[in-house]
Amino acid sequence: MTEKVRTRFAPSPTGFLHIGGARTALFSWLFARHNGGEFVLRVEDTDQIRSTEESTKAILDAMTWLGLNWDEGPHFQAQRVDLHREMVQKLIDEGKAYYCTCSSEELEASRKQAMATGKKPKYDGTCRDKNLKKSPGSVVRFRGAQTGTTVVEDLVKGNIIFNNDELDDLIIERGDGYPTYNFAVVVDDALMNITHVIRGDDHVNNTPRQILMYEALGFAVPKFAHVPMILGADKARLSKRHGATSVMAYKEMGYLPEALVNYLVRLSWAHGDQEIFSLPELINLFTLDAVGKSPAVFNPEKLLWLNAHYIKEASTERLMVEMKPLWPADAPTGDAVFTQKVIADLQPRVKTLVEMAAMADFYFAGQVQYEEQAAQKFLVPDVTAHLQAMLAAIPAVQNFSKTGIEEFLKAFTQERDIKFKVIAQPLRVALTGKTVSPGIDEVMVTLGKDRVVQRLNDAIGYIEDRSRS
Ligand code: GLU
Repeated sequence: MTEKVRTRFAPSPTGFLHIGGARTALFSWLFARHNGGEFVLRVEDTDQIRSTEESTKAILDAMTWLGLNWDEGPHFQAQRVDLHREMVQKLIDEGKAYYCTCSSEELEASRKQAMATGKKPKYDGTCRDKNLKKSPGSVVRFRGAQTGTTVVEDLVKGNIIFNNDELDDLIIERGDGYPTYNFAVVVDDALMNITHVIRGDDHVNNTPRQILMYEALGFAVPKFAHVPMILGADKARLSKRHGATSVMAYKEMGYLPEALVNYLVRLSWAHGDQEIFSLPELINLFTLDAVGKSPAVFNPEKLLWLNAHYIKEASTERLMVEMKPLWPADAPTGDAVFTQKVIADLQPRVKTLVEMAAMADFYFAGQVQYEEQAAQKFLVPDVTAHLQAMLAAIPAVQNFSKTGIEEFLKAFTQERDIKFKVIAQPLRVALTGKTVSPGIDEVMVTLGKDRVVQRLNDAIGYIEDRSRS
């Protein structure tokens, strides 16, 4: 029997979940799901100063929003420190690690000296063979191999060969008794039976050191896959100046999680030239050999395009739920049938849910706010008679549906011997306050007869008031 695939996402809770982290989590999650395996969440919170509970919550919330459910955890690394110390002790007992008391001044001086003589700065081994005992502030270093090579057989990048003499005697336990990242990650991944370590390629250089520690501890070495980084359009590492980098900022800006997931997966992974993928489809198709080696470039326009697509595709029931927190606080959205119609009108037209909330304002308004220029140009005495005639005719319209209204408008303009153009914009401004809106017929259907009548009345009153003053 082949062993069960187990992957993990191991964020440090020192900030929000950013785009790069989310993409790594997604790949790790997809790989587990594709292989019928398990996805473990481990919060790497051993940095006591920078880790916060708030960040942990923010990361978990973002994972949940994206739909990246975990089968195990969250494990908290800081609660496992006794275990890490046990493993450190084991290495010390076996002569594979040692105490070091070099002060930071000494280390700095030796580093400078190495640089001056053109050597790679690395720990000079002062304490390696001193057989020191633990003392206040002493650190523990891993006795690295001095010769030979370590090969990282990366599932994305292929084989990467490192000369062991270039690897430092890494600190594995700090002066405060806490393990360092490189050590804790090895112990935890090994004890959690992680079979595939999928992470950002900023960790590639750590991997040979970690492999040596797996071997020293007598653990099986997992498979590694390092996914390329995400850059901004200017090819610099993605950062705030390229726009929002936090996953939850996208939620707040009115993105649907499936749009972000679809976007993130296509950064560095492809299946032919297909762009739109549902989650079940991704689970079915995702393999690491289709992950690209080179850095991906973040393209906000494409993400927006995907978001518009998913908003268009979403059911109005779903969007009712998504829109709930986004409607302006004073919008009377309590009439569910009406609100659902508003959403249906707008969903083919907007790129974000926030845009939908903004565009919907005129539907909910008790009194339409006319855009100044629109009113000046279109709500003028010339159109009063047409609007009055329409006001008089509307109550008799039997079929207040899209086709019914189309027929009504056709008959109305024929009867009055005017082109639709003459009445179209005045009517639009009367009903919406704007010169750009969804189709007039759709707007009329959604507003319903009573609101249309009220708005025509209001517009006529407005024109009269204005011409009087
Ligand atoms: N806590 C590490 C980080 O957030 C995890 C790296 C890894 O996946 O090994 O960078």
